[in-house]
Amino acid sequence: MKKAFIVGHPIKHSRSPLIHGYWLKRYGIEGSYERIDVEPVNFGNFLQIFHEQGFVGGNVTIPHKEAAFSRIVSRTERAERLGAINTLWVENGVVRGDNTDVLGFMANLDLSLGTGWEQDVDTALVLGAGGGARGIVAGLQERPLRRILVANRTLSKAQDLVRSLEARGAAILEPLAWEDLDRALPDAQLIVNTTSLGMAGQPSLQLDLARAPARAIVSDIVYVPLKTPLLAAAEEQGLRIVDGLGMLLHQAVPGFERWFGLRPEVTPELRALIVADLGAGR
Ligand code: NAP
Repeated sequence: MKKAFIVGHPIKHSRSPLIHGYWLKRYGIEGSYERIDVEPVNFGNFLQIFHEQGFVGGNVTIPHKEAAFSRIVSRTERAERLGAINTLWVENGVVRGDNTDVLGFMANLDLSLGTGWEQDVDTALVLGAGGGARGIVAGLQERPLRRILVANRTLSKAQDLVRSLEARGAAILEPLAWEDLDRALPDAQLIVNTTSLGMAGQPSLQLDLARAPARAIVSDIVYVPLKTPLLAAAEEQGLRIVDGLGMLLHQAVPGFERWFGLRPEVTPELRALIVADLGAGR
């Protein structure tokens, strides 16, 4: 029986066990996926012993993604670019690390909007410059966009993000001051919120979406609630919307495939299961 984990601190609210548990059952695989709460001070030790404890690998979440990056030496190119690891597995006795957030976000955009959606997008506007934003900007850099604007409340963090990623891809990367957001909206055919604004318990994001282009796409990586006030406002405005749950579901696919040897499908049934769980507020 193969065992995988999700390690974080705290970890009890993670939906990942539900996602992987669904796939294990659906494909009749004898395996497990367990939540493990590890405090930062013990994380280095955990990385050294998980394989001996019978685990084939697992996911890493807040607050350990950067620590995993600095401790795991065998990393994929994507993990390298993001400076953070969210997926671990063992290959020929060596622990390897990847970051699947990029793939998750991009796969969800492609499936929600249909391939070729980039053709309508000249400029993308990414709000936020935290861990989530890095993955989104790196993913968008793999597509033929002309310009990616990164707006953040703390401008210096947007500048740092742009500086560290700008050598890759053809798109021009530009930091944007938070006060200039509304002024940039008429040029933004794709708007992505990666800040925690709009999340349950947080203030909502105030954007004057009437200034956005008529066929703009608005995406939010926050998924609690599923329809954030930003997405609700965009929908009301007749804009195309993409919610954050798809990213969470799709980022789980590569890990499951590595640990259990089968590429799982993100089905409407799986999505409904997680939506019901989010609704139950657990
Ligand atoms: P993070 O690294 O802590 O970054 C938080 C971002 O939000 C920063 O840019 C921060 O700006 C901004 N922010 C916070 N409060 C703000 C405010 N009052 N006004 C303006 N900006 C504010 O967090 P993260 O890991 O990127 O996660 C952000 C959100 O994305 C969370 O809700 C998380 O659950 C969600 N997420 C979803 C997925 C998914 O699979 N769908 C994946 C990753 C994250 P400053 O730099 O100025 O502080």
